[in-house]
Amino acid sequence: MSLRSFLNKLEKKGEVLHIHERISPRFEMASVIQEFSEGPVLFFERVEGYDTRVVANLCGTRGRICSALKTSRNELYMRLSEAQRNPLKPEIAEEAPVMDVHEKPDLSRIPVLLHFEKDAGPYITAAAVSARSLDGKVENVSVHRLLVLDRNHLVIRLVPRHLFRLWSMAKKKRKDLEVAISIGLHPAVLLAAASSPPFGVSEYAVANRLLDGSLKLVKCMEIDAYAPAEAELVLEGRISFEREAEEGPFVDITGTYDIRRMQPVVEIVNVMRRKDYIYQALLPGSSEHRLLMGLPREAAIYEAVSKVVPRVKAVNLSDGGCGWLHAAISIEKQTEGDGKTALLAAFAAHPSLKHAVVVDSDIDVFNPREVEWAIALRFQASEDLIVVPNARGSTLDPSADQKRGLTSKMGIDATRPLNIPRENFERAHIPSTQKVAELIDKLRKTRL
Ligand code: MN
Repeated sequence: MSLRSFLNKLEKKGEVLHIHERISPRFEMASVIQEFSEGPVLFFERVEGYDTRVVANLCGTRGRICSALKTSRNELYMRLSEAQRNPLKPEIAEEAPVMDVHEKPDLSRIPVLLHFEKDAGPYITAAAVSARSLDGKVENVSVHRLLVLDRNHLVIRLVPRHLFRLWSMAKKKRKDLEVAISIGLHPAVLLAAASSPPFGVSEYAVANRLLDGSLKLVKCMEIDAYAPAEAELVLEGRISFEREAEEGPFVDITGTYDIRRMQPVVEIVNVMRRKDYIYQALLPGSSEHRLLMGLPREAAIYEAVSKVVPRVKAVNLSDGGCGWLHAAISIEKQTEGDGKTALLAAFAAHPSLKHAVVVDSDIDVFNPREVEWAIALRFQASEDLIVVPNARGSTLDPSADQKRGLTSKMGIDATRPLNIPRENFERAHIPSTQKVAELIDKLRKTRL
């Protein structure tokens, strides 16, 4: 399964907007993508200064991601957590479309987007970075932003997670870490790379399970790492164990600028690509960014809360909370205390979570008005509020103690208290007849 096969499917459904005007990857494309966030896939056919076409907003809606994984909104969590529990090793292919061309690196020929006014430079944002431990026993695939430094160097942001761990292991032996940076991927690969199965589980194997065993990999030509056989473009590189450069400012999922840091430099040593490769862009802070980062966390929360309360209906890392900091969780409450137990499990499952609301299963967590309605009518701050000061949290929140990574967490239990009669919380309902339903239908149609 490839980016192209998915694009063809979307094309048939009329979900791809082709842009034939010549447009620059310097700010211009980012403006258009921002305008159509949550809208169609954007296909830039003519890119100023480049021969390459650019696709963006591929995973901009929940519906498109579900269609890529052949699942429904309600089953998405289960699909994601099941794939993490049952990873399936992909086959290795000898030949692949991505091996059409191999050439010396020249990053200036790739239409990498410059997104925001104060960004440090053009950033690659939709790449899956894969690496193996020096002994070859552990493989990891994750998504990282990469700042273009020059023709053959990037700076990579390494958050202290799995790739950082592999890099630290290599660094101890004074060795560079070899990486395959793959761009132009099927959503399942990006989503798997954005998820966090335990260290030692390859996210390629998670992606392969999501794709029912159809993912194939190829071995890179110059380095010891693997890339999806059907990727559009693969940059083969080495993360230096000693050379660092300044990384940032860069706009992250919150839509604010992340701070400058010294980060490791990647030397690109070889490029593999399809002859007419399509470059995949992702606008930071867009719905696509929120969904790709947030969905695997929703699945993790769903899984964790399911273990402590009888039934979880849905989890939404809401748009207003940057798809990262705020969760609304609906449960079927059985005993008093279920709401608070669910909150504690959610905070444990997603350490960046800052504010969480638990509601009953009659509330639609994807509708902020309904969630607020539940808080208005089913919540008492003196009883139902949890505040945890100085807990570990996201470093992206400017109101937090970013240096120490500490924040305050707030949990709101907006489930119905069981000691108050259920009918007090009942949403009033007007009895209807077929006649009235037909009349309303007619009025709707005739209304100007
Ligand atoms: Mn990992």
